[in-house]
Amino acid sequence: MKAATERSLIIVIILAVISVVAIIAVSVWQSERLQDTADSIRHTNSVLFRTKDVVSAYVQYELSVKNFLVSGDSSLLPLSRQSSDLLYAQLDTLRELTKDNPLQQKRLDTLRRTVDDNRQVLDSSTALLLLGRRQDAGDLIASREGQDFVTRVQSLLGRLQSEENQLLAIRRIANQRVKSRLQEVFMGLIIVVGILIIVVVRKIRADIVRRKEDARRLSLFSQELERQVLSKTADLQASEEKYRTIFYKSPLPKWIYDQETLRFMEVNEAAILHYGYKEHEFLSMTIRDIRPPEDVNDLLDDIKDATRQNGETRHGVWRHLKKNGEPIVVEITAHSIFYNNRKARMVVVNDVTRQKRGEAIMKQLNEDLRKRASELAASNAELERFAYIASHDLQEPLRMVSSFLQLLKKKYKDRLDEKANQYIHFAVDGSERMKGLILDLLEYSRLGFSKENFGEVDLDHVVTEVKQMFAEKIKNAGAHIETRALPVVHADKIQMGQLFQNLISNALKYRGPEKPLIRLEAIEWPEHWLFKVSDNGIGIDPQFFEKIFVIFQRLHTRSEYSGTGIGLAICKKIVERHGGRIWVESEMEKGSTFFFTILK
Ligand code: ADP
Repeated sequence: MKAATERSLIIVIILAVISVVAIIAVSVWQSERLQDTADSIRHTNSVLFRTKDVVSAYVQYELSVKNFLVSGDSSLLPLSRQSSDLLYAQLDTLRELTKDNPLQQKRLDTLRRTVDDNRQVLDSSTALLLLGRRQDAGDLIASREGQDFVTRVQSLLGRLQSEENQLLAIRRIANQRVKSRLQEVFMGLIIVVGILIIVVVRKIRADIVRRKEDARRLSLFSQELERQVLSKTADLQASEEKYRTIFYKSPLPKWIYDQETLRFMEVNEAAILHYGYKEHEFLSMTIRDIRPPEDVNDLLDDIKDATRQNGETRHGVWRHLKKNGEPIVVEITAHSIFYNNRKARMVVVNDVTRQKRGEAIMKQLNEDLRKRASELAASNAELERFAYIASHDLQEPLRMVSSFLQLLKKKYKDRLDEKANQYIHFAVDGSERMKGLILDLLEYSRLGFSKENFGEVDLDHVVTEVKQMFAEKIKNAGAHIETRALPVVHADKIQMGQLFQNLISNALKYRGPEKPLIRLEAIEWPEHWLFKVSDNGIGIDPQFFEKIFVIFQRLHTRSEYSGTGIGLAICKKIVERHGGRIWVESEMEKGSTFFFTILK
């Protein structure tokens, strides 16, 4: 931009100089031309003067000769000779002056011849007169009259003059033209130079303004630069200070060691505090000195490895020794850096001794827990086997007690009094209830843990079957069961049937004053399905939310609602067998929602 302006400025200055030179050249040339025409005019003027001189010289010569001829006074002769010489001298001058004009030369030649002729006549007359032959002289003169010399001379001179006058007029016009051309050229060049000067001045002014603006901007820029440099320097100092502080005041022990000599170069306060060495002690040691001797070889191998993988950040778990000999387990993070022109590594230490100890304890606890769980599972299985065998084996004696009681009632009814019959009735009822409980227990304990009956189960299908099973009950209660599309799951089909059967039957059984409205819904989660079975029944007191899932736990008497308290315990066992869990949310008199999950 700036270069372009300077270039155009230089071009304008060059043009201005060329114009000035051109003005000078043109004016010199024109003035020379002017000079030439002026010289021509002057020359024409002097030719005219000379012509007049010739005329007057001729007249004078003619007069002097005539005077002599009339008076015969010979003293007049020199005068006439003088006049004749003057005339010729004038004619010579005139010839010299008009030598550039052949036409005039020709006329002068004619004039000279005429003058010569005339002079010859006059000289002959003069000679005759001097010889005293006045008469002859007079005749000769008279014969000359016939030739009319004077008129011829005058007419020749007149033509000469008119030619010169014409030339004078032409030259004056030419002179005038040159003058006005010169003026025009001057005016034109003055205008051009004026314009150029204006352009140059404007350009220079603009340039000055721009330069001033540039200078102002430059000064602002340099001020800003200075400010930024100062602020960056301050930032740099602050950040250096910050990093020093971060290093020295870090709660984690840190140090920098020389990668070749393994000598400590810097240690922070936390390292001094944690390891118990003073700073100068640290700086006189190498990192080998804080390792148990048996770990030193591993350390050296690791350093070799680290040097090979130049620049990589390394992590590791090592054993260190404090100054008091206490061993600690540390997690190390080491970065390669350049420090004081040496290849070095900066190490951050995290003492994980307690954590590692905790981990070991946790590991032991987990191990114990796993052992306990498998023991528990074994004992559960044992218990279930026992419950199964017991309930199975109990059936037979119970059936005996029950049938003998029936027999007793039948055979001895009339022989026994009212009270004995009532006791027998209670005993029969009790044995019936016991039979029911034993059957429930048998069903519960039969729910094995094997997955051999697992397969793809369409729950929509399962629920439809349950609804058909309860069709009568649903109709009588005026119940409405709403089902949103249920998924296909990997499960035991019979147990899925039992699960929905128990939940739907409970929802129908524990109905409120309104017609039962039961909703079944499934929500998909990444790893499992969440099912909701909600009703508008009597609801459950939150304090019993856990208890209702325990076997034989009921919240009502048999006279209020039939049942043995096994249904939800079976549900819980089935759900857990499918890797899920079951829980309830409920509000008294508003209804309950049973949630359970099934693994995908
Ligand atoms: P049962 O129905 O034979 O008593 P369950 O194990 O099925 O045994 O239920 C345990 C108890 O939980 C029931 O006695 C009842 O008090 C309560 N319960 C179960 N389902 C519902 C329900 N949908 N609404 C209200 N209470 C319920």
